[in-house]
Amino acid sequence: MSNALKFYINGAWVDPVTPKTLDVINPATEEAFATISVGSAADVDKAVAAARAAFPAFSQTSKEERLRLLRKILEIYEQRLDDIARAVSDEMGAPIGMARDSQAGAGLGHLKAAIKALEVFEFAEQRKGTRVVKEPIGVVGLITPWNWPLNQIVCKVAPAIAAGCTMVLKPSEIAPMSGLVFSEIVHAAGLPKGVYNMINGDGPSVGQVIAGHPGIDMISFTGSTRAGIIVAKTAADTVKRVAQELGGKSPNIILADADFEMAVAKGVEGCFGNSGQSCNAPTRMLVPRQRHDEALAVAKKTAEKQKVGDPKAKDTVLGPVVSEIQFNKIQKLIEAGIAEGATLVTGGAGRPEGLNRGYYVRPTVFGNLSIMPYDSEEQAIEIANDTVYGLAAYIQSGDIAHARKIAGQLRAGQVKLNYPAWDTFAPFGGYKQSGNGREYADFAIQEFLEVKAIIGYGAAS
Ligand code: NAD
Repeated sequence: MSNALKFYINGAWVDPVTPKTLDVINPATEEAFATISVGSAADVDKAVAAARAAFPAFSQTSKEERLRLLRKILEIYEQRLDDIARAVSDEMGAPIGMARDSQAGAGLGHLKAAIKALEVFEFAEQRKGTRVVKEPIGVVGLITPWNWPLNQIVCKVAPAIAAGCTMVLKPSEIAPMSGLVFSEIVHAAGLPKGVYNMINGDGPSVGQVIAGHPGIDMISFTGSTRAGIIVAKTAADTVKRVAQELGGKSPNIILADADFEMAVAKGVEGCFGNSGQSCNAPTRMLVPRQRHDEALAVAKKTAEKQKVGDPKAKDTVLGPVVSEIQFNKIQKLIEAGIAEGATLVTGGAGRPEGLNRGYYVRPTVFGNLSIMPYDSEEQAIEIANDTVYGLAAYIQSGDIAHARKIAGQLRAGQVKLNYPAWDTFAPFGGYKQSGNGREYADFAIQEFLEVKAIIGYGAAS
């Protein structure tokens, strides 16, 4: 890609202030397939200056003008769906069909949701003689991870544009290629220069500089709880608003009245989705104690059906995990599970048979660890909530009233009953150490707004 060594600042592709590069590794081959530039504080300064200069005019644009720009981005995004899918598949190993339908498709979903939400969004209301107006918060810093690269980029950029903010985006340095394609799309859509700026680079040299920059008014961060804490601390000195979408360890309560086999199978598939790398995966399955063994048998059957292999092959369900670091971390966790006496149902350490190159992991299930028995519903709820995280929770039941009742007792930002379809209008975000704030559709637009009260404004005319 011709722009891989450049950043997108003030409406143009530019060279970094100080040349420094990083190879991008394809996890299926373990080989570099691209080289990007990594930025420094001087690049952040340039991008922030461009975003600040663009803010006065962009913040005053009409809703219709911003809708026109978002619709143009959507149109070009649809045309470049295959380019995005290829980039995601190469940079993080997603099977190509999934990269197109789910990874690139997620960005499409967020663009459509932001447009629909903006169409009906009210930026002002009258409260007797006071006018309450919602205004863009200013220049926003957007920092995103590698696991759902487009999902995270677009669910921040589209609502930030909808709100009238200008922005500096730093995609993940591990999966930066799709962010480059997205920046080309934004450029082609003709946004006013300086509204959208993108710099590549690592967390400490670019992300942290964005978080601490006095010219940035708000940070929207998605990634690990570890980095999210550093970002919030760094942002505190300039009293920025910080929105955090962080890690999770989500419970999946399978109630006695559920369609058991289907519920267990779908739960296992939900964990393996995106090669086990989704923040909201249902990774703690809770089953009635007397059905624990039965659950393990279904889980074994389901896990062994997952076809692991080349992301470019049509029948591949699981590609490699994203990097050598993740591969080694997962191997250590599997070894620790075995050493601590959990029941290894299927899989284990090492690569799957026949795959000697690439960061491929054997689909692995542990009983009495990732699948856990409970004795009563009260105990299931207690185990479900017994975590520092609160991103998502799942409930399976044949009786929707029963599931709804339990949903009210779970401390999580999203509770999913009986595996519903993805909903781009459902607010997304975490309780507890899974984060602060909510994304998607109007909730995301709201997050990028300040509230101003104009008192003495007079009655509505
Ligand atoms: P990460 O925290 O290592 O990196 C995320 C982003 O933060 C990257 O762009 C990285 O360069 C940047 N970063 C790292 N250190 C930083 C620092 N000190 N200051 C500023 N920026 C810094 O996370 P990752 O490994 O890329 O992503 C996986 C994590 O993201 C998982 O923990 C997953 O649960 C989480 N995640 C959460 C959500 C959500 O919406 N809650 C969605 C996707 C992923």
